[in-house]
Amino acid sequence: MTEPPPPRSSAAPVVVIGGGAIGLAIAWRLARRGLGVTLLERGELGAEASSHAGGILGAQTEAHEAGAAQRLALASRRAWPRFARELHADSGVDVELRGGGVLRVAFAPAELRALRDTHRRQQRLGLPARWLPPRELRALEPELSPQLLGGLWFERDRRVDPARLVQALATAALRRGVRVRTHTPARDIVCDGRVRGVTLESGARLRATQVVLAAGAWSCTLGGTGLEPGLVEPVRGQIVQLECASPPLGRVVFGPRCYLVPRDDGRVLIGSTEERVGFERGPTAGAQSALLRAALELLPSLAQARPGPTWVGFRPYSQRGAPLVGPAPIAGLYWATGHYRNGILLTPGTAAQLERLVLREHARPPGRAR
Ligand SMILES: Cc1cc2nc3c(=O)[nH]c(=O)nc-3n(C[C@H](O)[C@H](O)[C@H](O)COP(=O)(O)OP(=O)(O)OC[C@H]3O[C@@H](n4cnc5c(N)ncnc54)[C@H](O)[C@@H]3O)c2cc1C
Repeated sequence: MTEPPPPRSSAAPVVVIGGGAIGLAIAWRLARRGLGVTLLERGELGAEASSHAGGILGAQTEAHEAGAAQRLALASRRAWPRFARELHADSGVDVELRGGGVLRVAFAPAELRALRDTHRRQQRLGLPARWLPPRELRALEPELSPQLLGGLWFERDRRVDPARLVQALATAALRRGVRVRTHTPARDIVCDGRVRGVTLESGARLRATQVVLAAGAWSCTLGGTGLEPGLVEPVRGQIVQLECASPPLGRVVFGPRCYLVPRDDGRVLIGSTEERVGFERGPTAGAQSALLRAALELLPSLAQARPGPTWVGFRPYSQRGAPLVGPAPIAGLYWATGHYRNGILLTPGTAAQLERLVLREHARPPGRAR
């Protein structure tokens, strides 16, 4: 598909607030289309949820019901291969996009019944998934526990390395001319009937004709966003990393009490908790030992792995139960937040949607209401 020509770049740029995967991807895509873009990041680029994620692109693994959120998830999964190629071309960084699907497995009869229900629901939605009895499960992943009763294989789901993704997006955004300002927290979005700019914590003001709010779990801490208080809130997740001589799994596996994400170099991530503790950063011994126990139950050979680092991240949970992606009720302001457990999966779809919306408004003559 050929892309329309870029619009003329304006003196008052687009301002993107937040330098996680979502904000960086939007800034990169807009700059690629010729817009003047400034990205404001409170700390370091990608240092929050985005680089702390598992990197599971689980459009089906995480699918619960039909609707706009699921359409965005499936569109994002389809968009990932091209997105990764274009990102590589602009950054030189390989984001380690891998196929192999994602497995959900069961130890107990009740867990097996729940998986069969999921299978039936997905079939009704026209989504392919393969049922695996224990023998086939072991043929696919020989190191999984022999106690497992079966599994469901979402063959089209994938995985990516989020730390590489953030590095690639930051490089691509800078190379495409995004004006990146780290350690520059935004305080308020300035509007008088429509967006006029952003006030920084320092008191300085930046002019802008369009503002994209991509501040993840912190989105409700800024003024003038149009978000109801508490609409987006943090849900803490802890991860434990182990290091193996070679990858003990070919794909992501979800057990009943944890999931395992293999990386090409032998690292295995064990995730994750869901905790409503505000922005409390400290990891806890209880959560980490529960994750380790669950991982050894699922993949006993991990007992031989070397312990690695542990970390926490804050998922941006949306009280509406779906990401907030699109125009806010204030002209010129866009939301790109609330991606909760699936922001890495949803990065290409969100960036494409914002690219369309911002370019459409940008091309409109001044003064025309949307
Ligand atoms: C443990 C864990 C595991 C996960 N696993 C997966 C997974 O496997 N697959 C998946 O798809 N998703 C996963 N997620 C979810 C995913 O990480 C998030 O949905 C996604 O990273 C959100 O991206 P973001 O850019 O909106 O937020 P963030 O990456 O948090 O970025 C927001 C940025 O905004 C900045 N900011 C905040 N306030 C301001 C301000 N006032 N001014 C300027 N900048 C500001 C912050 O400093 C931050 O850098 C996981 C999350 C966690 C925590």
